[in-house]
Order: sequence, then C-alpha cells, then structure tokens
Amino acid sequence: MIQKKIWLMGAYAVGKTSLVARFVRSIFSEKYRTTLGVKIDKKVVVTPQGEMKLMIWDLSGEDDFIGADLEYTRGAAGVFLVADGTQRSSLDRAVALQQRIAERIGPVPFLLLVNKADLTDAWEIQNTDLEVLSQRGWHIIRTSAKTGQGVEAAFLALATSLFPSS
Ligand code: GDP
Ligand code: MG
Repeated sequence: MIQKKIWLMGAYAVGKTSLVARFVRSIFSEKYRTTLGVKIDKKVVVTPQGEMKLMIWDLSGEDDFIGADLEYTRGAAGVFLVADGTQRSSLDRAVALQQRIAERIGPVPFLLLVNKADLTDAWEIQNTDLEVLSQRGWHIIRTSAKTGQGVEAAFLALATSLFPSS
C-alpha cells in the first residue's frame, strides 16, 4: 500500500492534536495537553484512486516551526496548515509558515484548515480573509475537531492530492 508522511503545522492551541485525535480515534477532549516532542499516528484512508496509509506527524504544542528547524519536514509529502478561526493571528502564522516551507523545502502540497468551526460566533477570521487566499489558489476547509465537521473530508482531500496519478 502507498504510504505518505504528512505534517500538521500551525500556531499553538489551534487544534492540531485534536484534529488527529478526532480523525484517528474519533475522540475529542476540552482538556489541553501539550504534545511532547513529535507524535506519529497512522491511518488508512480510502480515496477514489485506492487505499493510502497516512503517517501523521504532529509536533510539540510550543514549537510551531517558526522558531524550529524546518528541516524536520523534509520528506513530508503533504502538510496541513492549521489556523484557529477564533484567533486572527493564527491565520497570519499559517501564511508565514507556508512561505517558509516554500522557501526552505520547496513546493509541498498543502491544505489550510480553519478549525473550531463549532465556534463561528467567536470567529475573528472573516470570509474575506479566506477569499484572498482562495484567489491565490489555496484550498481551504473549515473544520471542527469537536463536532467532526470537515475532518474526514480534509484528510481525504489531502490524501487524494498525494496520489501519484493525480
Ligand atoms: P494544538 O496545540 O494545535 O495541538 O491544539 P490542541 O489540539 O491541543 O487544542 C487546543 C485546545 O483547543 C484544547 O483545549 C482543545 O480542546 C481545543 N479545541 C481543539 N479543536 C477544537 C475545535 O474544533 N472546537 C473547539 N471548540 N475547541 C477545540
Ligand atoms: Mg498539539
């Protein structure tokens, strides 16, 4: 079976670890647990082109790669940039991370997840902010690790884009 390594990247507390927990284990917790070091999860996804095993890499909560060694991400087939809809600054962070990846690593397929879609009343990130990025060709999915909204779709979309034939 085809295996691909993917990374979640984004500011602190945007929901990276929660998205993986929702996707891999169908669970959600309000409790914040700092991810220690790098955590690797695996899950097989069934795409229209066939099965793919995703190796999902999730880095420590405090280290969002702006200060860290991006060399880690060499070998990543694809990346989720994760922002928190309720934190405008987390979108700027995602944009900055994408720029650094492009400069340092090269053209890695990525998808922007705007998480905490269950809290849209408290969102600081506006549709217009996201339209600007869509116009640049960014693919954006609104997700909630709490309700599960968009989570399966996001992993399926990234996996599908990584299939050799596509
Ligand atoms: P990380 O630092 O990016 O890995 O963030 P975590 O996954 O640890 O989540 C940080 C906090 O946000 C935790 O308290 C989670 O319960 C909460 N959280 C994560 N995703 C969601 C979501 O979709 N909706 C809501 N309401 N809270 C979330
Ligand atoms: Mg984490």
